Amino acid sequence: MTNNISELAALDRDHHMHPWTHFQQAERDGPLVMTRGKGVHLWDEDGREYLDAVGGMWCTQIGLGNEEMAETLAEQARTLAYTSTFVDMGNAPSARLAAKIAEIAPTGFTRTLFTTGGSTAVDSAYRMAQFVQHHRGFPGRTHILSRHASYHGSTFASASIGMRDGDRIEEFSYLEKTIHHLSAPNPYRRPEGVSAEGFTDFLVKELEEKIAEVGADKIAAFFAEPVQASGGVIIPPEGYFKRMAEVCHRHGILVVADEVVTAFGRLGEWFSSEAKFGVVPDMITSAKGLTSGYQPLGALIFSEELWQEMSGDRWFTHGFTYSGHPIACAAALKSIEIIERDGLLAHAKHVGALFQKGLKSLEDHPLVGETRGDVLIGCIENVADKETKALHPDEIDIGKRVSDAAEKMGLLVRPMGHLNVMSPPLIISEAEVEEIIVKLRA
Ligand code: PLP
Repeated sequence: MTNNISELAALDRDHHMHPWTHFQQAERDGPLVMTRGKGVHLWDEDGREYLDAVGGMWCTQIGLGNEEMAETLAEQARTLAYTSTFVDMGNAPSARLAAKIAEIAPTGFTRTLFTTGGSTAVDSAYRMAQFVQHHRGFPGRTHILSRHASYHGSTFASASIGMRDGDRIEEFSYLEKTIHHLSAPNPYRRPEGVSAEGFTDFLVKELEEKIAEVGADKIAAFFAEPVQASGGVIIPPEGYFKRMAEVCHRHGILVVADEVVTAFGRLGEWFSSEAKFGVVPDMITSAKGLTSGYQPLGALIFSEELWQEMSGDRWFTHGFTYSGHPIACAAALKSIEIIERDGLLAHAKHVGALFQKGLKSLEDHPLVGETRGDVLIGCIENVADKETKALHPDEIDIGKRVSDAAEKMGLLVRPMGHLNVMSPPLIISEAEVEEIIVKLRA
């Protein structure tokens, strides 16, 4: 132990810069160091057990410590740990995985470009959108439409496409002139004077006006998470995504469904944009649940038509050293196989209904303004006043206090400002769902 924190925590504190570092907090506390995971549970270095209701980072679909997966990873490492997939070299897992994705993706989505994670999938979609528009004869279509409360990643382009107010610190610059953010489709926080029934109309009108203002001939694509996850699990109003996509398509704007969180069973389907929202996008970005978190991997999935449009005697000069990494692709194939074989999409829907019912039951709690979610994604919006929806003052870091209290009870829920978000593994049992709800109420 060093200054009351363990040796590992001290090593980490002194040398490891974490994503979303808060300097003072990091220097003071050091991290909670996890050493083991099995199913939906994690153990820290002191042997304390936690039910991980966050599913890692929205990603541990088949659960941790899966022996079959461990075997697959080891076997692939022995057989072929790496080849580049640049230009004209391939490997068995990436070929098989691309074909498997074509089988489970929306009809006609036959092509996949592998990336290293979600941010690079979003960056790739951004570049591909410009490439496609160029070859459609619109080289001036370089702008992007996106929404407030969206999170699309942490690279320069994906961070610029995203817009969570708290993330926009003054030290960073963003692509501001060419990326335009529309309102978040958040029914709970809709603008004053807009009725629940009229909210979709309001948002669609805003889109039409933005297109008129920027000029359709300048806009390449609209990026949208079907459910805005990191923005607070925002379930859009009825018909919203479909109508937004229709407007975009009418104006020649490509629709990119960012399904980094919402694919691979999180909403009980392989992909959610078509199955749950009736939208056939032009591109789908994916990552996270693709490998159940066993390996870093992302995917940009698109249609045969788009491939044909791009095709010709020309280069698409884009890709990553680890695009189509054999071990990552083998992990994704195994994860998909387990989800299919064990009926985890149906299981997610079944336990997801109990999870949502349990969350709703918390709405009588004085701290809870609203709970929301769908299948195995959920959020609690903590407020100071249920009537006015006023938030607690800044010094009461309510989401963190809830998650700290939960952690003491052996439950991990993620704090995000005044929110607590959850996305448990698809394998979670009915009893474990019940445990989450009981502990949250406590
Ligand atoms: N897109 C969405 C919708 C996400 O939620 C995230 C991460 O949370 C990303 C993109 C970025 O993914 P990654 O962290 O794998 O780069």
